Parts: sequence; C-alpha cells; structure tokens
Amino acid sequence: METLRAYQQSLRNGETSCRDTVQKFLTHIQENRHLNAYLEVFADEALARAAALDDKLARGEKTGKLFGAVISIKDNICYRGHRVSAASKILEGFTSVYSATVVERMLAEDAIIIGRTNCDEFAMGSSNENSAYGPVLNACDNSRVPGGSSGGSAVSVQAGLCHASLGSDTGGSIRQPASFCGVVGLKPSYGRVSRYGLIAYASSFDQIGPFTQHVEDAALLLEVIAGKDRMDATTSLRPVMPYTEKLQFNRRARIAVFPETLRSEGLQEEVRQATLQIIEQLELAGHIVEEVDFAWLDYLIPAYYILTTAEASSNLARYDGVHYGYRSPDATDMETIYKKSRTEGFGKEVKNRIMLGTFVLSAGYYDAYYSRAQKVRRLLSDNISAIFQKHDFILMPTSPCTAFRFGEKTNNPVEMYLADIYTVLANLVGIPAISLPLARSAEGLPIGIQLMADSFQEQKLLAFSSYLMQRRQVVQ
Ligand code: GLN
Repeated sequence: METLRAYQQSLRNGETSCRDTVQKFLTHIQENRHLNAYLEVFADEALARAAALDDKLARGEKTGKLFGAVISIKDNICYRGHRVSAASKILEGFTSVYSATVVERMLAEDAIIIGRTNCDEFAMGSSNENSAYGPVLNACDNSRVPGGSSGGSAVSVQAGLCHASLGSDTGGSIRQPASFCGVVGLKPSYGRVSRYGLIAYASSFDQIGPFTQHVEDAALLLEVIAGKDRMDATTSLRPVMPYTEKLQFNRRARIAVFPETLRSEGLQEEVRQATLQIIEQLELAGHIVEEVDFAWLDYLIPAYYILTTAEASSNLARYDGVHYGYRSPDATDMETIYKKSRTEGFGKEVKNRIMLGTFVLSAGYYDAYYSRAQKVRRLLSDNISAIFQKHDFILMPTSPCTAFRFGEKTNNPVEMYLADIYTVLANLVGIPAISLPLARSAEGLPIGIQLMADSFQEQKLLAFSSYLMQRRQVVQ
C-alpha cells in the first residue's frame, strides 16, 4: 500500500476520492471477515464522512494532516456514540459517552474512523485468544495467531483493511502483533500521547500508538495524536516535533545490544539469526554496535506481571455490574450483583490477573512483591538512562518467536508471558520503542526487529527506523 502522503496526493489530483477509498476498504473488509479483525465496522458513517471530505476538497478548503486517512481503532479506545467493549462480555452493550483525545485529534485532522478492532480482553494477552468475541487470524497464515493484545489492529493493517490503526501497548501489545504480522508498530514514550478515553489496564504502563505499513505514516499519526492534554495529567509539556519533516538520518548511530537477549532461552534460532544479520548490516554501513551487559533480563517479566496486575486489580474494580455494562440476570442482592456479574462477565485471563494483583497488594505480601517490583523498576530506569548517555538506540528482537499456532501456548501461561520478554522493558521504563518488519523466516513468517530510544526521542527513533526500512533487504 502507498504512503498516506502519496494517497493524499492522488486525492488532490483527482485520481481517487475518499468515498471510493472507503468503499474499497469496506469491500475488502467484507471479503476478509473470516480474519475477525473488526468487532464493528462503521460503514455508513465512514461513507458519509468520506463524502463530506470530498466536498471539502472540492470547495478548496484547507485540509487536515490526516485528510482522508482511513483508520481503525482498538476496541479499548472510546469514540463517542459508538460501542466499546475491550473485547469483554462485561462491557457488552456499552456505548462511549465521550471520545478519547486521540480520536478527537484524528477527527480534527480529517481522518475517517472505519471501525473498532478485536483484541485480547482488556488488552491482556499476547495472542488475541483472550477475546470474548473469538480470536483474530493472522493473514499470513490463518492457523497462526496475530499476536496480542492489539491483534485486530495489526491484522487490519496487514491485510489492507484500512490505512492505519491505533492500538495500545502496556507490555508489547503494539510491537509484538506488529512483529507477528509484518507491519510497523510504535509505542511512544510514556506521557507522549494522552490516555484520556483509553480503557485502562495498567495506567503507569499504557500508551496508545500507531500500526502502519510505513514509518512515515507512523510519524504522521504520532504528530497528530501526541502532545499535552489537560484531560491526562501524565502527558508531557514537551513540544511535539514535526516528525514527518525530519525523517532523514545521516550520521553514524551508536547502538547498544544486550548479548543476554540473543542467548535467552526460548529464542527461536531464525529470530536470532535475523537479528545478527541486521547487526552485521549496520556495522557494514558504518554504525557502531556495542555489546552492553544487562543483568536484568530475568527480572523483567516478574516485575512487569506484579506491577501491571496490581494496577489492573484496581482499575478493573469499576466493572461491578452496578455502574455500567453486564449485570448477571441471576443477581438478587448487592453481593450477588458484584459476584455473579464479575464471575460471568470477565474471562479467565482477566480473572487470573485481578486475583494475582489483589494478592500482590494484600497487606501481608505488599512488601514482598509490589514494593520490590517497584524497586526493580527504578533500578531499570537508572540503568537504561545510563545506557542512553552513550548510545542512541538499543536493538533486540521484538519477540523471541514468529507467530505461533492457535492453542500452542494457551495451556502454559508462563510460556505465554515469556513471549513478552523483549517488549516489557520499554513500558517498565517509559521509553519509546518500535517494531520494524525487517526479516522473514524460511516459512515466510514476519520477524520484527525492535529499536528503543531514550524518553521523548521519538524523532530520532523514527528517523533511524525510516533509514532502516529504506535499506531493507528483508533477511530470509
Ligand atoms: N502481552 C502483554 C500482557 O499480556 C502485553 C499486553 C499489552 O501490552 N496490553 O500483558
């Protein structure tokens, strides 16, 4: 698919129209319904908006940065007057009463929102097998998972069912599905993008970010959605850069590689080889790649699962059968409203995590688990900051494996959690990270390479990503 900029040029030249484009996507979505990428398509509305945008262009009015861009949103991002369910039964029938800031900002720049995409329930998962509305299929191989939790968003871009999508990333939910589906996935720095209107999973980790076919499109989307928002006190005041205008990278980069990441147990050999080949190409191109010892790899998953489940247990307390969403028909009094509605409304993984989070926060265990994990988080931040004093980027695989088959990891939660080993670091320390489709396995499955930069260095990260994608000779 062409870049958004090229598409907008063809709109201005009259070679295509917003309406034709939406119509094409709608047909394509219909033909690909088996992928289960969308939970709902806003067909009539998208067509009407497209027609209004075509008129706007015809009248010669000023057009927005996302003019005509057809975008899908993960089903945990609120859009006023539209359903949102976080792929959970507990939010069945719930309609958003306000729009997320990211949605407002995209609409203000003339985007067209085409539908909401399937995901793991409350964004908890790495395979999309935890959706109450069935799994999403990887368009590369329908017997394989698309990754998670933003699997529907990844597939909507992979299969050409929209130009771009917004997902959320708490521990890898944008980057890992991007890696499994062969698209670009960017998790911005914590505080770069407003979380207002994002259904919270773990608030100190969550960030919204784009899935695209091109780095340039990711830069454009970030430019639109990033920035201070008075509705989210954790958003930064730092100015948003014109990321799209500064995508050239003409100097020598210093890149850190943690040898531990390439030795780690469970790393698929092809993923290791692909990463080594990229490193070799970088060195040949004159960049400096240095091995840096990182003693914390084994602590990442435990710290992540303690802290995020603790936050989730508190965030998800609001789904009680009283305020909104599902209420058990068998409930008879206050206690049964709570108990039965939550028991019936939440899926297994969500319940596991609420219980784990409640446990690690409980009086007797708080210091043993939660406080210690917070200390690990602090140590990691200090450590990573020190690395960025000397290096521009950290490079590692996005995921230890390529897309696995349905059911392959469902009976082994630890193995499933370990699939997040390379992605949770960026969320633990709040730095930006991107997954780039730079390689493929012998079977033709995509392999994502992950790059991280220091906090709020998105511009540098995107510029180097663009450079890598331009020189890409997909490693086979
Ligand atoms: N797979 C991770 C988890 O299950 C990441 C989820 C996410 O980033 N939302 O928690």
